[in-house]
Amino acid sequence: MKNETLLKSREAAVPRGIGSMHPVFAKRALNSEIWDEEDRRYIDFASGIAVNNTGHNHPRVQAAAAEQLGNFSHVCFQVTPYAPYIELAEKLSALAPGPTPKKTIFLTTGAEAVENAVKIARAATGRPGVIAFGGGFHGRTMMTMALTGKVAPYKIGFGPFPADVWHVPFPVPYHGVTEADSLKALENLFKADVEPGRIAAIIIERVQGEGGFYAASPAFMQTLRAICDEHGILLICDEIQTGFARTGRVFATEYADIEPDLMTIAKAMAGGFPISGVIGKKDIMDAPAPGGLGGTYGGSPLGCAAGLAVLDVIREEGLCERAVEIGDRVIRHCNALRQSDRGIGDIRSLGAMAAMEMIHNGDASQPDPDRTKRIVHEARERGLLLLSCGVRANVIRFLMPLTIPFEVLDEGLAILAEAVKAS
Ligand code: PLP
Repeated sequence: MKNETLLKSREAAVPRGIGSMHPVFAKRALNSEIWDEEDRRYIDFASGIAVNNTGHNHPRVQAAAAEQLGNFSHVCFQVTPYAPYIELAEKLSALAPGPTPKKTIFLTTGAEAVENAVKIARAATGRPGVIAFGGGFHGRTMMTMALTGKVAPYKIGFGPFPADVWHVPFPVPYHGVTEADSLKALENLFKADVEPGRIAAIIIERVQGEGGFYAASPAFMQTLRAICDEHGILLICDEIQTGFARTGRVFATEYADIEPDLMTIAKAMAGGFPISGVIGKKDIMDAPAPGGLGGTYGGSPLGCAAGLAVLDVIREEGLCERAVEIGDRVIRHCNALRQSDRGIGDIRSLGAMAAMEMIHNGDASQPDPDRTKRIVHEARERGLLLLSCGVRANVIRFLMPLTIPFEVLDEGLAILAEAVKAS
């Protein structure tokens, strides 16, 4: 079927609430390329929103899932447990930052992982409150919408949300919010709105994903850790978009040299098989009573088998090192574009989590979401799939598979340059 026919059918059959970033219908994909229903080729700088770090159809990941499928696809871990779940839990617990022994639970989606991290934090502390950051994104379920700081379009019309959630500004010095401002806001929150003794957890994305690819510094993360320790608050690091080599380390938290109490993971952990998880300090993870955690599909056998293969691919193919090299190339290329384009503002990356901010005439306070949209459109017309993000919808983010061949990466960057010039 042609893209145009499918687009019409989509409009008739699927609610408009599911956003539509590209009117391109995928037929097949391989590593960093996608072909649509009309056999048109696209270079993929989106990775299905940070999922295909190991590329589309990686043979190791496919083979591991196929082998598991040959054994069984579902029995439910709570009914008859299986070895791949335990093996993946052991490996991820060992990989998570910090010396404290860890345990890991698997769920299905990122939002569900965040929901479970909050449940565990409440059970472990006996406190209700959770503090999150402005501009952050944690999912589309009720509690994760409450935690999400970015209002439009995620929260419009869906309230009321669960109570006992507070927000403080995320530090974005480029937009005039310093780390000291964020910490002051936290201090004021404790003085005016809620006692720290009522707070179970602070949740943070070390690099905000949907919020605009802004990174909190290691020093900020360390201060947050110290504040949590002072008040008996648990620190939850949401690694759902940053995890699995994207930033040049398996987890972005590693750069900050701190140990989170709980960490949420999903997206790239199984190369596209839907699975998520919470990794946390052993005693904290054991707080909920038996039966309080889980779910029918949580830690599906296919996801666990694929997840084990993803960890092998990350190690054997040096994907952390590759992420750094990819990020450097993207940044060099964007810097060159900016020399003759005052509409390009801040350019930033942590590994291959790279972004370019579009502004009016060199003025950071004047976001340019319209041009951002045009660049995404022009790039697609030329065969490159891009994503935008940001509270001001003016950030172009780069999330190519970490397995992308360098000649394909350069081809994609050349298309980006054409799209920027044409917009
Ligand atoms: N947390 C972060 C940081 C995310 O980027 C996302 C998804 O983009 C989520 C949570 C929610 O994940 P999911 O869409 O799998 O529920």
